[in-house]
Amino acid sequence: MKIQFLGAAQTVTGSCHMIEVNGKRFAVDCGMHQGGSAIESRNENVEAYRPEEVDFFLITHAHIDHTGLLPMMVKHGFKGEIYCTVPTVDLLEVMLQDSAHIQEMEASFKNTKNSRKGLEQVEPLYTMDDALATLKHLRGMEYDRMFEPAPGIKVVFRDAGHILGSSFLEMQIMEEGKDKPVRFVFSGDLGRPDSLLMSDPDIPGETDYLFVESTYGNRNHKDEGSTLDELAEAISYSYRHGEKVIIPAFALERTQAILYSLNQLRREGRLPDIPVFLDSPLAIRTTEIFRKYPDYQDEETQALIAAGDDPLDLPNLRYTLSTAESQNINSYSGSAIVISASGMANAGRIRHHLKHNLWRAGASVVFVGYQAIGTPGRKIVDGAKSIRIMGEDITINAKIWTIGGFSSHAGQSEIMDWVGEFVKPHTKVFLIHGEEKAQEDLAALIKQKFAVDVFIPEYLEETTLEVDGKLVVETLPAPETVHRVDWELLLSDTESKMALLRRKLEEVSRRSWPEQVDARDRIVELNGELLALLSQL
Ligand SMILES: [Zn+2]
Ligand SMILES: [Zn+2]
Repeated sequence: MKIQFLGAAQTVTGSCHMIEVNGKRFAVDCGMHQGGSAIESRNENVEAYRPEEVDFFLITHAHIDHTGLLPMMVKHGFKGEIYCTVPTVDLLEVMLQDSAHIQEMEASFKNTKNSRKGLEQVEPLYTMDDALATLKHLRGMEYDRMFEPAPGIKVVFRDAGHILGSSFLEMQIMEEGKDKPVRFVFSGDLGRPDSLLMSDPDIPGETDYLFVESTYGNRNHKDEGSTLDELAEAISYSYRHGEKVIIPAFALERTQAILYSLNQLRREGRLPDIPVFLDSPLAIRTTEIFRKYPDYQDEETQALIAAGDDPLDLPNLRYTLSTAESQNINSYSGSAIVISASGMANAGRIRHHLKHNLWRAGASVVFVGYQAIGTPGRKIVDGAKSIRIMGEDITINAKIWTIGGFSSHAGQSEIMDWVGEFVKPHTKVFLIHGEEKAQEDLAALIKQKFAVDVFIPEYLEETTLEVDGKLVVETLPAPETVHRVDWELLLSDTESKMALLRRKLEEVSRRSWPEQVDARDRIVELNGELLALLSQL
């Protein structure tokens, strides 16, 4: 039996764990790789997935970093079933279409630029048709009911408490010729006890192999009370200055958690009387799906709903579906709260709101989710003085707030508590879905506390899992070579162009004055670009 790590290996995005056993090939999750061009180029690596040979997918939850490449699988010949929970089917219907829309928009944006430069046209990663075709493969399953997608492979979805319909997987695989099944647990994204809308994560039974996420492997979250206080403080800061509070938030779950918190602040009399714009068509749609499945939310939320309150509504809440309405928010003067996507500020309408507000003293930008390496969100959180958004350098004068307490991921101690409930001395633990530092810290802690073997797989790494009385983990090195930019080559290219420029300018200085001014302006622009780059390095 083999497992290959096609994503979320020493990173947080692109979750996909491909298993081969009994002549079957199937994967847990099939997520989009996000965060910088080096990581995102992995989305194009279709050969690594071999979609036409995949028998089925098991999907833990609807977030794009776990599902975003499913339409690409269908586009390239995947014919099997995609199993997930019932609410995940509804959520994927909107999430995958939204993702296809983004892919098409980005390709058409690039193509307009490319045609102007006389360059070749690019194809979107996948289209709306591919997304719609993918929906036909979805099979909705209930929590806690075992099913057998292929002979000898038994699977149960359990409540992970991360987002609506999220699950971790318990799996038993009986390998041909063996007399005892191997047990697996895949944590998916693990939620937190006492989170705002979701139930506490379930506890799995004993397992031989545990694949556990490690996003916050080196950090704990603050409690709910101080999280609400921080949000109230950010709002009151910008309210006093007559400026806006911009909240980049993932459309799915984080937006609903923010609405729920704003509702709570309103009930406590701590929300000023200002408009709240929900500026994300996707968030508006996913909020509707939350309303459809109250049974999948925690008891507190169900009690509020039963008492006639809608915990996701506010008297001043305004939905902006169209682009024109969205742009109008920027001409609205006065204090307001704007919730918009994407959560890491790397795409979507949030970029416009950041462009219009980041430079304004008194404004607030409140980050409420994980910011992956390479994203604009991460750069802002890490203290950048200016940031490039949609081709423009924007100075950062707004107050930046990072409120970790909204996280729908377990923090370090919460992961440890969960693992501690079922880990046994023979369990082999693999850390996935986390950045290196978080993984190293968590690995050390797990080894020390539970005395078990812990592995941190690399991207494309392949591991053989055996069960002959005892378990063996044999790791093949990832075929990918170490990445290193050839700065020498790159800069000598820049230098030779500079030398050529110098020679050409001698000739330009004999041309007409308007032509010389034109060349001068271009060089001033070039210097500006270089300066901006230097200040960001
Ligand atoms: Zn997630
Ligand atoms: Zn995730």
